[in-house]
Amino acid sequence: MKEKMYKYAPAILLSCGLILWLITFLIDRHYNHNQGLVWMPFVIIQMVISTICGVLIKKLYQQVHTDALTGLRNKKYFYIKLSELKTKAPVSLILIDIDNFKSINDTYGHIAGDQVLQQFAEILQSNTRKNDIIARWGGEEFAVIFPQTDTKEAFKIADRIRAIVENHLFSYERIACKITVSIGIASIKEGADVGTEQFIKIADEALYKAKEKKNFIVTVESSFAQAKHNLLW
Ligand code: GH3
Ligand code: MG
Ligand code: MG
Repeated sequence: MKEKMYKYAPAILLSCGLILWLITFLIDRHYNHNQGLVWMPFVIIQMVISTICGVLIKKLYQQVHTDALTGLRNKKYFYIKLSELKTKAPVSLILIDIDNFKSINDTYGHIAGDQVLQQFAEILQSNTRKNDIIARWGGEEFAVIFPQTDTKEAFKIADRIRAIVENHLFSYERIACKITVSIGIASIKEGADVGTEQFIKIADEALYKAKEKKNFIVTVESSFAQAKHNLLW
């Protein structure tokens, strides 16, 4: 089912219920010449139940696709969106890995580590556009899809995020620490046909290269189906 069906589930269920009641009411009036008021309590109860069910469906859908710690989208949602958006290239994908994150946990504890992940998620949210899709890829790794964005533009945004993170003081109670991130960027040019798995693989390769230096960005641009890619930076 499409995302919009879940998003508007309360309104859809409510409207369907009302239409059914209206048809029932009209049929009843036609055959029994009833005033119709006898139906009203049932209509109201049904409307309330439909709305509650709709809200629950919407909430469940959101929960299934949301990362509990950061509130960002999860990998499952990310895969769905990536395959949808890819058809409307150019699209850029960035994979971000926090450098030496294990040492944050080892030095300050896991709760402080969780706080750093949450604050990092906030930085990502406030430094991307409304229609960019941000997800927690897993552990201390994050991914962002930039629709309608070429390599150059994606690099600009990624480098801004990298610099902001490098200069940000992450804090939790009396603890204050700094982190850096490494970023791999893959971009698909308009008209290119690159599979979702391949697209992610290219970004992953770029990230792997960036990790060799750390606090670094590597960009790959794909133009062909078999992802003959050029390392740009
Ligand atoms: P590198 O620079 O090579 O990426 O080193 P790293 O330490 O960042 O990477 P590594 O894979 O060695 O360690 C990742 C750490 O992230 C280990 C794991 O305990 C921690 N981690 C993963 N998920 C969470 C989480 O939800 N909360 C916290 N606090 N830590 C997490
Ligand atoms: Mg990692
Ligand atoms: Mg790491």
